[in-house]
Amino acid sequence: MKYPLHCARCGRDYDDDGRRLRCDCGGMLDLRFEPSFKPNMADGRSHDLWRYREALPVGNDVVTMGEGWTPLLPVTLDGRQLLVKQEQLFPTGSYKDRGAAVLMTRLHELGVKHVVEDSSGNAGCAVAAYAARAGIACDIYVPEDTSPAKTAQIEAYGAALHRVPGTREDTARAALEAAATCVYASHVYSPWFLQGTKTFAYEVAEQLGWTAPDTLVLPTGNGTLLLGAYMGFVELARSGIVNHVPRIVAVQAAACAPLAAAFAAGLDEPVAVHTNATVAEGIAIAAPARGSQVLAAVRASGGSFVTVSEQEIIASLRDCCLGGWFIEPTSAAVIAGARRCARTAAPGETIVTAFTGHGLKAAAKIAELMKSL
Ligand SMILES: *Cc1c(COP(=O)(O)O)cnc(C)c1O
Ligand SMILES: [Zn+2]
Repeated sequence: MKYPLHCARCGRDYDDDGRRLRCDCGGMLDLRFEPSFKPNMADGRSHDLWRYREALPVGNDVVTMGEGWTPLLPVTLDGRQLLVKQEQLFPTGSYKDRGAAVLMTRLHELGVKHVVEDSSGNAGCAVAAYAARAGIACDIYVPEDTSPAKTAQIEAYGAALHRVPGTREDTARAALEAAATCVYASHVYSPWFLQGTKTFAYEVAEQLGWTAPDTLVLPTGNGTLLLGAYMGFVELARSGIVNHVPRIVAVQAAACAPLAAAFAAGLDEPVAVHTNATVAEGIAIAAPARGSQVLAAVRASGGSFVTVSEQEIIASLRDCCLGGWFIEPTSAAVIAGARRCARTAAPGETIVTAFTGHGLKAAAKIAELMKSL
């Protein structure tokens, strides 16, 4: 099956050979694909993300570990109920498996033998795991200070790990150079990754009886979950399966908030901002490549941005842990944003958010943070 890559900025289409990263105009590429999924098609199928296969532009030979269909559970914080998708329960411990399963399925179909990826940790874990499942060799680039559990996990899957000194952007540059001679399985550039993360929307809609929640509170570093969830709800609304696209509240750490700053200033592109260190390592992205798409999605949904302080992130981490939920600090940032949003929500408003990553990814760091309280 062939679906062209499409540049939303200039309208140009390209054949997809797995290698093209951007449009010649510099724009990011999306996939031109219209799903034919209808709710009754999922009846009787296994409870994983492949139950929406008519919404996924790949064939039947899928690279899978039974991922998806994470529970959507009520969690009460500050006396308000949030519905929290348990994305920490994925095979590699974060929602990145949604994107990696679909992207690696596609690259496997294309006969790709070797990929490179860069990440602050979790996308590297997911790509390394699914590359191992598919028998594809894999080089993963991470910043030097990435949590040891994540680097151990990447190496355990048999990937070659490269630690890059400097900023997250230096890591991205190193991966981009390495990708000159093989395929860049990028969770940021590849539109196939977003085809996978969009299953978040399909699952939430089905779990709510094929309706859309009022509000989605999602993390925003590069926005890979946010953009996928938005695309999924747009598709579901367009095919009449749900009757609206939820309002999207995008959460950034105040220490690294280029998109929140752009949104507040009414701009269409991320702004260059001064950044500080944050415990939310997974969303510390100073120059998000799909930033303009994130801004457009949040605006089109009637949503907004919230920024959360380090104290709020750590307090949310503590409160989640004391409630029995072991999540990583990045994931606690999202919950800090969701709490803010819940405090001002209308009575009866349905707010869906996510535990994006498992606490075991950063157990030592969590122990340290809990001692600091
Ligand atoms: C990747 C990740 C995020 C946010 O992802 P972006 O695509 O950068 O917005 C949030 N939480 C965890 C645990 C992650 O691994
Ligand atoms: Zn273009």
